[in-house]
Amino acid sequence: MIDTVALITGAARGIGLATATLFHAEGRRVVLLDRDADALSAAVANLPGALGVTCDVSIQQDVAQALAEIEQTCGRLDILVNNAGVADFGPLADTDFARWRRVMDTNLDGVFLMSQACLPLLAKRGGAIVNIASISGLRASTLRIAYGTSKAAVIHLTKQQAAELGEVGIRVNCVCPGPVNTKLALAVHSPAIRAAYHDAIPLNRYGTEREIAEAICFLASDKASYVTGQILAADGGFESTGVGLPALRT
Ligand code: NAD
Repeated sequence: MIDTVALITGAARGIGLATATLFHAEGRRVVLLDRDADALSAAVANLPGALGVTCDVSIQQDVAQALAEIEQTCGRLDILVNNAGVADFGPLADTDFARWRRVMDTNLDGVFLMSQACLPLLAKRGGAIVNIASISGLRASTLRIAYGTSKAAVIHLTKQQAAELGEVGIRVNCVCPGPVNTKLALAVHSPAIRAAYHDAIPLNRYGTEREIAEAICFLASDKASYVTGQILAADGGFESTGVGLPALRT
């Protein structure tokens, strides 16, 4: 495993950093990519041997430059985790086109651009892509007109990629996290939303970054060598329970 290289986008903090840390502990070489240069250097400093690449996944030239740097420095790529994402909750009436585009730029275009740019390196030895969507892509709700739609698109993009890339030996799967206490969630989960999540989730709690990272690392690993095109909700049971009315609890 020591010579395999895993690239994680949005890895300066949160779920991306937890995933990079887990891959690193498994003995893989990790490449952390993020647009927040300061947070990125702090994260890389704690992972000996890790490479940090500053890049905005929604900007095509940035992505091309990042891949050139990774190819030159590492010479190979085995795993891509498309984790970089932004959340912006609002109703249809208040979501102007610029707001819609900001969400789509990173959450959808970023996954497309990064996957396409990594393809030549991943196809050399066969590899794995794990896309990070959300329970908001599986279950519609209020306030997620842009975010939920972007994540539903990532789920379908995963299936498109799996259908096409199997024959070049690349597996593509998707993890849909439930709520996790990261900076992203803290910005959009009001106290009322937090309380409602606790009530509606069978496990009665938020997940941890580590719990989501474990699901990602499994799908990226050889343990999942016959798994492709799958959507795994790591969500405390939220997706499986429909409306999950607290009043129906015993
Ligand atoms: P976070 O905000 O803590 O971390 C996201 C990281 O992505 C940040 O370091 C940020 O700088 C980086 N980033 C954002 N846009 C970028 C871009 N265009 N280019 C490069 N880097 C960029 O968020 P998180 O909670 O760890 O979220 C990680 C992923 O998990 C996201 O795709 C998010 O939608 C998804 N998710 C999170 C939750 C949750 O409750 N936290 C739930 C479901 C899905």
